[in-house]
Amino acid sequence: MLSSDKFREECGVVAIYGNPEAEKLAYLGLHALQHRGQESAGIVTSDAERLHAHKSMGTVADIFTEEVLASLRGTLAIGHTRYSTAGDSALLNAQPIMVQSNKGAIALAHNGNLVNALAIRQKLEAQGSIFQTNSDTEVIMHLIALSREQTLPDAMADSLRRVEGAFSLVMISRDRIFAARDPRGFRPLAMGHIPAGPGERREAIVFASETCAFDLIGAVYDRDVKPGELVIVGPEGISSRFYSPSPAQSSCIFEHVYFSRPDSIVFGRSVDLSRDLMGRQLAREAPVQADLVVPVPDSGNTAAIGYSAESGIPFRLGLIRNHYIGRTFIEPRQSVRDFGVKLKLNPVHSLLDGKRVVLVDDSIVRGTTSRKIVRMIRHAGAKEVHMRISCPPTISPCFYGVDTPSKKQLIAANKTIDEIREYVGADSLAYLSLEGLKKACADGEKTTYCSACYTGQYPTSFVDVDEIQPAHTLE
Ligand code: AMP
Repeated sequence: MLSSDKFREECGVVAIYGNPEAEKLAYLGLHALQHRGQESAGIVTSDAERLHAHKSMGTVADIFTEEVLASLRGTLAIGHTRYSTAGDSALLNAQPIMVQSNKGAIALAHNGNLVNALAIRQKLEAQGSIFQTNSDTEVIMHLIALSREQTLPDAMADSLRRVEGAFSLVMISRDRIFAARDPRGFRPLAMGHIPAGPGERREAIVFASETCAFDLIGAVYDRDVKPGELVIVGPEGISSRFYSPSPAQSSCIFEHVYFSRPDSIVFGRSVDLSRDLMGRQLAREAPVQADLVVPVPDSGNTAAIGYSAESGIPFRLGLIRNHYIGRTFIEPRQSVRDFGVKLKLNPVHSLLDGKRVVLVDDSIVRGTTSRKIVRMIRHAGAKEVHMRISCPPTISPCFYGVDTPSKKQLIAANKTIDEIREYVGADSLAYLSLEGLKKACADGEKTTYCSACYTGQYPTSFVDVDEIQPAHTLE
């Protein structure tokens, strides 16, 4: 095992081929994918002669004013929205990354993390390559530029064979859009089309991390880009090739647990359906006598509906979320306990007072949020709080594009379930079993899933050894 780059990001990508308003469609697509990253966003378009780019820190609606969009001319576009905790969050790392290469101008937008990026980068730097960012994506750019293959499709296929890990990516050149997924299919990438309107010759072809982006731009979902597939859309039409033989598919199960929107089809399956079944299964596995089922909004909503339906315990919105939280806020000098969580969530006292509550959330990572929420619900008068989590204990970090902390900070890696229950202050605590989760996501039918965050069994051989040490072995 090698030590990988500590740079981790969560992202959404979108691409449009063949629409006179490509920039606006990319913008709207990114808007629908905003939940996948709120730190920076960018769009690159092509007008068949030149690429035009704009990227900035902030949210999609703030960055892309009418004036900015007017400067992004073209009929082809790619877009990216990004969140990163580790590594440098400067604008330099915002995507798409655009370069002038010996194979022409290209820009790339990438969702996922490579596990051998650092090793490749060190090798290239030793040979004289100069890197401008610390993102994995630039490694792919260098490999494309350095490839001995003459054409861009061949150079891209050659580069993708050399990297390992998670990548769902879209690339734009002067006259083509490229879309590819890693051979294990870790992260999602859907493909669709916008039917030709009156007077238009051809339908537009679109790609996005999630199908909720298609709904907003009037696109029809056709299929996923397959693991190990490179799809190229150009003047000659659509072509597809498998650049690498696929090992067993290992798509991220956490997309269904938390990350994707419930109105999306991800890995060919409705996220809403998976979450509803997770909740139902959780109710069967961990029943409890209670008066109300209350979700932690929004992440626990659908599983809580499933839990309520299966158990017959009424579903009530006992916590209300304030959606209008800006980037900055002013904290009162006399510090209010749990101020951060209170900004976001407020309990409905009249509902909770004197009640036995089943509190449903998707996951516990460090445990700090759950602890504050349980305390909040008790302060609102709840008699009992029974916490139910719609996935198994998160015991190991993700190296494939979900931002989880190292094992030292994962509460379930360092405490028993009863110790976690005590820490969060609940009367009872239960997690969904791995078998139950896999069943809810129809594992083994259309998709087989990666569940390394729950098992510590990684499908790739390169993982960061420092990150998977539990706390007690480091102290
Ligand atoms: P914690 O306080 O660390 O236990 O946070 C748990 C909360 O974070 C849960 O309500 C989850 O919905 C949410 N969560 C879990 N994973 C992630 C992630 N990768 N990015 C952002 N939020 C997350």
